[in-house]
Amino acid sequence: MNTPKPLQPQAPAVPETRPEEIEHLLQRQRTYFASGRTLEVSYREEQLRLLLNAIKSHEQELLEAMHTDFRKPAFETYTTEIGFVEQELRLVLKNLHKWARPRRVRESLLNFPASSYIYSQPFGIALIIGPWNYPLQLVLNPLIGALAAGNCAIVKPSELTPATSAVITKLINTTFEPEYVAAVQGGVPATQHLLAQRFDYIFFTGSTQVGRIVMKAAAEHLTPVTLELGGKSPAIVAEDADLGLTARRIAWGKFMNAGQTCVAPDYLLVQEQVKDELLEQLRIAIQQFYGEVPENSPDFARIVNERHFNRLRSYLQDGLVRIGGQVNADTRFISPTVLDQVTWTHPVMQEEIFGPILPVLTYDTLDEAIEQVNAGPRPLALYFFSGSRAQQDQVLEQAHFGGGCINDTISHLINPNLPFGGVGESGVGSYHGQSSFDLFSNQKSVVRRGTWVDIPLRYPPYGNKLEFIRKFFRWL
Ligand code: NAD
Repeated sequence: MNTPKPLQPQAPAVPETRPEEIEHLLQRQRTYFASGRTLEVSYREEQLRLLLNAIKSHEQELLEAMHTDFRKPAFETYTTEIGFVEQELRLVLKNLHKWARPRRVRESLLNFPASSYIYSQPFGIALIIGPWNYPLQLVLNPLIGALAAGNCAIVKPSELTPATSAVITKLINTTFEPEYVAAVQGGVPATQHLLAQRFDYIFFTGSTQVGRIVMKAAAEHLTPVTLELGGKSPAIVAEDADLGLTARRIAWGKFMNAGQTCVAPDYLLVQEQVKDELLEQLRIAIQQFYGEVPENSPDFARIVNERHFNRLRSYLQDGLVRIGGQVNADTRFISPTVLDQVTWTHPVMQEEIFGPILPVLTYDTLDEAIEQVNAGPRPLALYFFSGSRAQQDQVLEQAHFGGGCINDTISHLINPNLPFGGVGESGVGSYHGQSSFDLFSNQKSVVRRGTWVDIPLRYPPYGNKLEFIRKFFRWL
């Protein structure tokens, strides 16, 4: 039997960028933005191409850094980070010239003669703050949107994945001029100093708790924000679901990145008659994916740090372990685990889990399942497994959630034509593909009015024009 390799020592903690440096960078970016250089679409395309090349040339370093930080398997790092970001860049490079054009919309006869347009104008300087769990994707994808729309940007990757954050910082700071794009490093002090400055847009990905801090700071300057937050995303399994397929798709979405995914199914809500069969299918799927001893699998990541490891380990006491349950504190390993006999009052059901532990709850009727979901804060994602179109439609119509899938998990993120974001406590705003471009643009509404005639109807004195205008409004 292979003995599990010890974790590589964590990279040294990230340095804190000094407050004066942050202020200086911001000042330089303000001057640069005011120069108008970023307004040229060809300039933006050139810079995005530089980013694409930089990602390609840093691929090996990124794969190694994420392995050092939490033993993320290379396949997952490529598909969910590097390849994902490259896809987004290619899509933007193909379409940017179209998105950036003023969009003509239908005219109102009340404005005759005129034509109406939406002009997309960059906000100015964007601040992008990222989390640790998909450390590359979650800072670079928003950055692509910000640059495509013509903004300058300051990026702050997470301090909890120090090796990856060091590579991201190097990648950004060697690709761009700092007056255009810069990466700064640090934890809470640096982030709070950034948040005290006046930015033109703030894009934050992280926990709901820190999201509140960000929104409060943004309110000081009335800066628009996007908040990509977390929550407890359910996977609901109906009695008629194909249980083998369902188990594989849930296990894939839950245990990828060792469950440290914002849209991972947080808990299972299964129709009570099929619970035992579903758990049996989950046992088979987990064994197929990670073998008899998941600790020996090269395809299963580790928990990011000791604090999260201890928090997750404590959840194992909240119910009956039906599958998994093995832990190794030296390597921050927690095996893919399914936890039965859990109630809403257990800590594991009160907080976002963010790890490879899947608690199981049951329901009798679908109405009751939807009621349970809607009783809590609105989740970022929801997954429903059923062959019944009527039941699918009921869930889509009645349950509140950011986005999700029918008969799958996580794949709604893969299609860049779908805006991705949360609702309520799971977030504000959405991005990916053209939605990112729109998000980072001020959509200016403009009427171009003809000058060859000036119909006097709207001007005082109004005299007896009211009857005519009423008829005109009703006719429109
Ligand atoms: P976090 O909120 O702890 O940290 C995110 C960022 O905020 C980091 O860069 C950190 O330096 C900074 N930060 C932390 N505390 C701060 C404070 N007091 N003041 C100012 N800044 C502070 O989140 P995390 O642990 O890195 O990531 C996990 C969370 O992110 C989970 O809740 C997860 O669901 C969520 N998430 C959401 C998405 C999404 O797209 N919706 C994606 C990934 C992760």
